[in-house]
Amino acid sequence: MQTARPRINGDYVTESESSPDSHIGVASPMKVEVLGCSGGIGGGLRTTSILVDDRILIDVGTGIGVLSIEQLKKIKTVFLTHSHLDHTAGLPLFADTVFDSLLEDPLQIYARAETIDALKTHMFNDIMWPDFAALPDAENAVLRYNEIASGDLVSFGRVALRAVEVHHSVPSVGYCIEANDQVLAFSGDTKTNQTLWPVLNAYDKLKALVIEVSFPNDQAELAEHSGHYCPLTLARDLEKLEHSPDIWVTAMKPGTEATIFEELEAAIPHKKINRLHAGDAFEL
Ligand SMILES: [Zn+2]
Repeated sequence: MQTARPRINGDYVTESESSPDSHIGVASPMKVEVLGCSGGIGGGLRTTSILVDDRILIDVGTGIGVLSIEQLKKIKTVFLTHSHLDHTAGLPLFADTVFDSLLEDPLQIYARAETIDALKTHMFNDIMWPDFAALPDAENAVLRYNEIASGDLVSFGRVALRAVEVHHSVPSVGYCIEANDQVLAFSGDTKTNQTLWPVLNAYDKLKALVIEVSFPNDQAELAEHSGHYCPLTLARDLEKLEHSPDIWVTAMKPGTEATIFEELEAAIPHKKINRLHAGDAFEL
């Protein structure tokens, strides 16, 4: 049985339509847990994966490896920001590990058309990994693709995710997680852009912004070329933000964290910037 029925660009699912395990009408907080948030691996670091309400995953980096098999089986919905491996590497093994449980309730993958094309061509292509969108057969496939575009809102009972255009080296979106009248925004990978900030400014209750800074300032050229922020470019973009959410920095390349934080403090002296760690959790 599916945990909730999603709708793209629709209203929230009503109580009578939702599954018994949803909590509509109950003001219990919704959990957002960081499974991995590094730009690489090594020394216990794991790459981007964020678990929402135990059942929705945003990106499937190596962070997913911290979950137990029982926890993995609860996840029936995946949102991808983009195709890069630090955000998708765990997906093939995840689908394989919980294959039997997906026979009853397939894994729904939400992503841009370009990201879905990349998964089909380069990952689930029967060379790198079996095509789970055709197994055990096309009609009963355990993996289903759902195309979304920037601006789309996908609702699951008490939580909804809005895709937001960002500017990376491949087509990418960030996600705004809306629950209990609050919002947590996750940029995914991006460099300077004009698309994320107006969307954030339109939210009255932006509680937290999780935003990437992959490289220190002395690698600003590489950051620009590869579609990432460095501290100086993030500082400039933060001036576009009209709210004062808690700001959490993610996706730093391993070994650069201390330098990036010194540079962030110098570039943004008037704001507290927090470092995101695996294991951090938010409540909405
Ligand atoms: Zn990327």
